[in-house]
Amino acid sequence: MSEKNDQSGLEAIRADIEAVDREFVKLLARRMQAVRLVGEIKAEEGTAIWDPAREARLLESWRKDAKKAGLSSHFAGRVLREILRYSRRSQEAATARPAVSGEATKLRVGYQGVTLCHSDLAAKKMFEVRDVPFETRGFSAFDDVMDALEAGTLDYAFLPVENTVIGGIAEVNRLLTQRRVFIVGEETWQVEHVLAANPGTEIGALTEIRSHPVALAQCARFLRGISPVVAQPRLDTAGAAVELSLSGEENVGVLCPLEAAEEHGLCILHRDLADSPNNMTRFLLLSTSAEATDVALPSKTSIIIHTAHRPGALFRALSCFARAEVNLCRIESRPEPDSPWEYVFLIDIEGHADDPVVATAIAAARPHCNQFRMLGSYPSRTTDAPNMTLIPPTEHEAEIGASTISVVDPVPGPPLAMSRDGGERSTVAVGDVTIGGGGFVFIAGPCAVESREQIFEAASMVKERGASILRGGAFKPRSSVYSFQGLGFAGLTLLKEAGDHVEMPIVTEILTPDAVEKVAMSASMMQVGARNMQNFELLKELGQCHRPVLLKRGMSATVGELLDAAEYIMAGGNNQVVLCERGIRTFETATRNTLDVSAIPVLRSRTHLPIIVDPSHAAGRRDLVIPLALAAAAVGADGVMVEVHPNPEEALCDKEQALTRELFSDLVRSVRRIRKALE
Ligand code: PEP
Ligand code: MN
Repeated sequence: MSEKNDQSGLEAIRADIEAVDREFVKLLARRMQAVRLVGEIKAEEGTAIWDPAREARLLESWRKDAKKAGLSSHFAGRVLREILRYSRRSQEAATARPAVSGEATKLRVGYQGVTLCHSDLAAKKMFEVRDVPFETRGFSAFDDVMDALEAGTLDYAFLPVENTVIGGIAEVNRLLTQRRVFIVGEETWQVEHVLAANPGTEIGALTEIRSHPVALAQCARFLRGISPVVAQPRLDTAGAAVELSLSGEENVGVLCPLEAAEEHGLCILHRDLADSPNNMTRFLLLSTSAEATDVALPSKTSIIIHTAHRPGALFRALSCFARAEVNLCRIESRPEPDSPWEYVFLIDIEGHADDPVVATAIAAARPHCNQFRMLGSYPSRTTDAPNMTLIPPTEHEAEIGASTISVVDPVPGPPLAMSRDGGERSTVAVGDVTIGGGGFVFIAGPCAVESREQIFEAASMVKERGASILRGGAFKPRSSVYSFQGLGFAGLTLLKEAGDHVEMPIVTEILTPDAVEKVAMSASMMQVGARNMQNFELLKELGQCHRPVLLKRGMSATVGELLDAAEYIMAGGNNQVVLCERGIRTFETATRNTLDVSAIPVLRSRTHLPIIVDPSHAAGRRDLVIPLALAAAAVGADGVMVEVHPNPEEALCDKEQALTRELFSDLVRSVRRIRKALE
């Protein structure tokens, strides 16, 4: 055949290939349309999107057909698996929250960078399959994206959290710990850099290459190979392309995504520059509220925990996942700014929080954590592993069919955070004092901080006699508005100074949500008084706080209501709750309140939280404080809190119940005897 004939034959074959490709696209579009219809029906019926058994059957018959047609069944399987993944994602869109709300006509997704940077491209990859109108908006810093999300000018923030070459993105992990956001999705992105320059520039003539420092680092080997070019950092890969195109500079190159180079009229000098072929970035989709996701989809659950600064504390929390055979995919530590040299851990768990196996493991781990925050459950893009209860899928087909879409609740359903549920009793650290765990603590000090002399004297007096935590009210919730209301922040400062002087942690009452942050800067433990037990806004704020909380029982609250109040604090992520029985209102007037002794064993059976008894406010009379403290020790309390004053007759508050130094010595001695007798 002549060369000309060769040429026209080749063209005909190529035309044929192109026709087949066009047909492929049409068929794929037809398939996707059918898939979306199925998705809508599933969403209406509330049935699971993922049907692993059906997928397995499809794959099997596709492989067989491929083999019959003389194709590699392995290769054909990979193609179908990719199509199935795409189908599943488009069905997820049908079940995602109503995408566009209120005034907005499009979903607003924020990222860090400029148009066509990797974040922008990855966000588009995620939303293009969702079949909803959306727009992406670039911001110059991660913090700016989060500010816009919190201000409501964005529906989602889309931020990179880790890269396979450079590891975790510290700034984004920091934002996850500091901002009140939920993770509602993840996306992976293959990072491909090209070397681009203004038309006419030759690779050999380059003197400078600009890009984001991460991109420069990822192509370090290539850059060394073409030295002596100088690498110049820029804020953004696509931004570097815009700048170069506008300046028209010659002899300068940029590392950027192919799409950005093409958009800005740059020529491609080199492709595939990254040192590692597996240069992938994982992005998180963040929202200010939790979102519905299908429990049957391969999922991840992200949590943030803080454990006590003691040997084995983190191990005990994590071992709950090991025992339940729940896989952890990532653990990252971040400094805890409120407590220097302590850390919080960001943990990704394989599986959905509504999956019973995962939910049980989480419930078991919670008591071992000082703080626990649920960031959310969302479809996984890094694993196709089925969720725990779906293994093996065939055994549970009926259940999968019946499982419904459920909203990710920030609190996993029952068992509740505070529930006993056969687990170990928890301990709460207040400074270097541990409440719970078999010991008995004495919390002592005056009802109110009255003066420097009074609190310093009270502090040394109780310390010498066996107290390990100093109490003192700076903000007093008095029944009469004309009674002494406390010294406020000045009183708190005095209490802190006295505590530091005798090396004792301090506990003080907090009355309002807006004072939480400021009081937490000085107090080692925050006390919620009986009158505030159901101040839910205060409890919620304390849930966000990193200090332990002493929660007193309301004077007409049931044990159940006390536990509900504790749950408010723990649901916010603060697990360091100690309960306090301080007497309840009954028809009896012989005592100020009636100490509900039975509440202690009842609480012990219903919650793992430590329990303190306050006999001072229960009795209201000095002479009854010791006998009631003995009862508390006998029924299993983890400690007592009592009011002690250097000069009770002069006390500005609750003087009838204040113990003298001698009585406090007697109390400590007799409680120790009871404890010994119980050994
Ligand atoms: C207190 O402990 O100072 C106090 C006011 O107690 P209660 O909230 O139990 O009345
Ligand atoms: Mn008092």
